[in-house]
Amino acid sequence: MTNTAPVSAPIDLSLYPETATLDDGGRLTLGGVAVADVVERFGTPLYVVDVASLRIQARRYIDAFASRHARSTVMFASKSFPAPAVIRVLAAEGCGVDVASTGELVIARAAGAQPGRMVFHGNAKTDEDISSAIDAGVGHIVIDNLDDVDRIARLATSPVPALLRVSPHIAASTHSSLSTGHDSSKFGVPSGQVNDVIARIRRESMIDLQGIHAHIGSQILDLDQFEAEVRALSMIERFPVYDFGGGLGIRYVRSDAAPSVDDYADRMVGAMHRHLGEDVDLIVEPGRSMVGRSGITAYRISTVKRGVRTHVAVDGGMGDNLEVALYGQAFEPAVLGKEGRATTVDVVGRFCESGDQLVRDAPLVDPHVGDIITVPATGAYCYTLANNYNAALRPPVVFCDDGAARVVVRRETYDDLLQRDVDHAHR
Ligand SMILES: *Cc1c(COP(=O)(O)O)cnc(C)c1O
Repeated sequence: MTNTAPVSAPIDLSLYPETATLDDGGRLTLGGVAVADVVERFGTPLYVVDVASLRIQARRYIDAFASRHARSTVMFASKSFPAPAVIRVLAAEGCGVDVASTGELVIARAAGAQPGRMVFHGNAKTDEDISSAIDAGVGHIVIDNLDDVDRIARLATSPVPALLRVSPHIAASTHSSLSTGHDSSKFGVPSGQVNDVIARIRRESMIDLQGIHAHIGSQILDLDQFEAEVRALSMIERFPVYDFGGGLGIRYVRSDAAPSVDDYADRMVGAMHRHLGEDVDLIVEPGRSMVGRSGITAYRISTVKRGVRTHVAVDGGMGDNLEVALYGQAFEPAVLGKEGRATTVDVVGRFCESGDQLVRDAPLVDPHVGDIITVPATGAYCYTLANNYNAALRPPVVFCDDGAARVVVRRETYDDLLQRDVDHAHR
């Protein structure tokens, strides 16, 4: 059954990027540009990024940590939005970059980021990964396992600065796919083996072990968990460098509450000073909380099917947003430019899976074929996980800044789909 419910504010601007406004005519703008105009110019589905939001959040993170602990570095976890244009903006504000593969290293370097301000991660690094990290001269390679130790020992020709990733025995309360710090995690060295691994690393002249790393999960909304992480790391002997990973959660729907970056920095630095002292270097690696709010996705409604439930199908879905299928993430869509009574509908994608639902039970105002749907808080992990299911073309990324819009990643083309096929050309 469909039912109607009055909604006073069809769009909650606090979920949208920092510069988002509804102008006098009720038109949504980002970075001084009307979203309707951007969609008209660049089509749908479309990732729209407010560049000011990226800058503001980078400054907010850097200031929050540096003001509480001078020896702090904020490394952007590039996997959350691995586009050179995004990394370039954040690096220009002073962020380092966290990469987790040779590919991410290539992208970060293409953005002009300095390797000396990068950390290189991975639970299954290859020889190629270790060699490319060493050749680039990354600030730290994060050792995840004993095979990393063997590989670095074999491939390095001078001592490599390294951190050791520890699994600090914390079952972070988030979706199981997003929890990474428990003892059965595939990431890091289980707490019981840490001392032995440290001793083993110290026998290698080609590894300069400078500190400890942990990352307990993603979309974490309870700051106690970060404090528990710091406390767990204090059970190990002292090191000069501590990298606490990322993981701070963000708001996706209006009923969500998330800690501010200042609250997070307060708890993190406070716990560190209490448990580890002040004479240490601190690193954090925010991804989702750095870029999540800066981006929205725009779709066009392709069809409205009324039955037991009303399905509003859009021209994208799990090809451009896997957060729903992977983690059951909730989102808050809106029909652009419409106000009034809302109808409860299911917003579904165009892909051949019943699981390709974007939002269940979404209140939408008068959805019709051809209308634009906006979904806020898609700046993290949506571009990252975009795919070619059903041979859909991956959407472009458009930057809005200071009244102008420009494409920084173009839309895929049908030619792109055939680009890697080396057989068809011979027929
Ligand atoms: C994914 C990841 C991050 C970033 O996590 P967010 O939840 O996006 O902040 C940071 N560090 C490591 C090692 C990661 O794997």
